Amino acid sequence: MSSMASLGGDLQKTQDRPAGGPQAVLKPLQPGAGHMLPPPPPPVSDDYPAWWDEVWASPLDVRRRIFCNRSLNMGHIKAIGFDMDYTLSQYRPETFEMLAYNLTVNKLINNFNYPKELMDFEFDYRYMMRGLIIDKKRGNILKMDRHKYVKVAFHGFRKLSREERLNTYAHALERTEFDEPDYALIDTLFSLAEAHLFMQIIELMESQPGIMPPKKTFADIYRDVRAAVDLCHRDGSLKRSVAENPGKYIHEDPRLPKLLESLRASGRKLFLATNSLWDYTHVVMNFLISGRTGHDRNFDWLEYFDVVITGCGKPEFFIKKKALFEVHTETGMLYNTDGGTPMVPIGEEDLPAPGFMSSAPGGLGDHEAGAKCRVFQGGFYQDLHKMLDISSGGEVLYVGDHIYGDILRSKKTLGWRTMLVVPELETELEIQAASAGVGAELKTLRQQRDGLEDQIQRLEATIARSRAAGDADEEDLEEVAANLREQRDKVRERHSTLLQEHHERFHKVWGQLLKTGYQNSRFAHQVERFACLYTSHVSNLCFYSPDKSYRGRMDHMAHEEEPAFAEPPACPLPNPRRSFPAAL
Ligand code: IMP
Ligand code: MG
Repeated sequence: MSSMASLGGDLQKTQDRPAGGPQAVLKPLQPGAGHMLPPPPPPVSDDYPAWWDEVWASPLDVRRRIFCNRSLNMGHIKAIGFDMDYTLSQYRPETFEMLAYNLTVNKLINNFNYPKELMDFEFDYRYMMRGLIIDKKRGNILKMDRHKYVKVAFHGFRKLSREERLNTYAHALERTEFDEPDYALIDTLFSLAEAHLFMQIIELMESQPGIMPPKKTFADIYRDVRAAVDLCHRDGSLKRSVAENPGKYIHEDPRLPKLLESLRASGRKLFLATNSLWDYTHVVMNFLISGRTGHDRNFDWLEYFDVVITGCGKPEFFIKKKALFEVHTETGMLYNTDGGTPMVPIGEEDLPAPGFMSSAPGGLGDHEAGAKCRVFQGGFYQDLHKMLDISSGGEVLYVGDHIYGDILRSKKTLGWRTMLVVPELETELEIQAASAGVGAELKTLRQQRDGLEDQIQRLEATIARSRAAGDADEEDLEEVAANLREQRDKVRERHSTLLQEHHERFHKVWGQLLKTGYQNSRFAHQVERFACLYTSHVSNLCFYSPDKSYRGRMDHMAHEEEPAFAEPPACPLPNPRRSFPAAL
């Protein structure tokens, strides 16, 4: 009763929170920041033919493609597993993240004694981006490239100058790894709201000193925000709202049932391995598979899977042995098992329910049509391997959205093959297609800049030698060098403006998700290292045969991009004696 009362209070306050407006003091400060990266897009619509619909292949829209980092022959895959949240289930950020944000603000005010001014904050679900890093001690948010070089840094909504950024992060005595406990990675879509809130609180602290309790450090604030978010996920406040109206918070995915059916028809065993508990999993999967909600929910969705593991506590599930409980789906009761084998409690003559023993302990065997799969909680990956009759990690493909929770350990420790769902990829691909040609221009400008720099250095050395020899040509050479420096500065300026504009097309503040400057971002680097496959949506699997052999692309090292010996320079330098060409 008391938890219901507090939930009611929370929700009431959530609805009371002002929608923004002139009194909302902490808007993002970037000029024109209204145009941000759109939220993760809805799942694919029904108008594109699935692979089973057409005998002859149609060219596949790039946004529907599955990209391959490491070759994967699906013929070797015996079991395909799915994460649920943000993998099978794509949340609507405008409602789901907004709700998470509002509930967190309420918890910070009511449970953590944060000032009421937090009520004036306005959440922009498009403001943050995955792959950013929170510097807890300094209260900064960073974007870095694959070498962990910080390229963009904000303190609150104030952008650090280049000098400030380099002094803080590049000129440190020791190399920083940017890992826990001093840094936190924003690597799930769940973290976007808390990262935005953290930025806003830092901004508030800096603009109104004294508003926060004394001695609160930036790291304390991060810890409080994290704890408040955690509470929203654990105390049911967030999940109860989703359960009441799943369609408001989760995108429908009409292709999902057919996709799961086709994968099973191909002989693959399917499993669901989610950190969500049974009650919530049942809500979400009912909605996704059959659109059922409330009292209409049933257990039909279980027929699509061989095993369901809820509350599996990834990534520990891949590392540490934990007790595996069987979930009695009707009541939600947990029963002890010995690695999946039911254990009969003393004093009971039989197992709790007839259906409870329906699958053979220690191995599920072939899944009969209509038979419901067993549902577990907790456990260890070895339990799963045993139940699915898996003899090596390479026989499992796991599809998830979280590099750290779903992909990294499962791949590194178990040797599972992995597929990462990156919903943001859809927008990235669209913008990339719309800005075709920019990459080539940037490359030309870089070559010109580098060529000019080389030439200036040669000239300067020659001038120094002439000066030492008292040569009369020196002044003439000085003039040429000055002209080249001017040209180099203009090329550099043009390159930097074009690169900036290019990034702003993706996101006004943070730029392109998968690039930092012209290099791969840290996020892109992780995708490349840990995901065998990646795609914008799980349903994209339905455009490929379940027996497809995905082949990795050809790798390129730096020397392979250089022109062959005999070719003329790829990009001639501007004439050193003429003024700078107008076209640049
Ligand atoms: P999965 O992605 O299907 O494994 O499930 C993720 C689960 O983790 C969901 O039930 C989320 O509500 C939950 N979750 C996400 N972020 C947090 C957090 O910060 N604290 C606690 N639970 C979280
Ligand atoms: Mg997930």
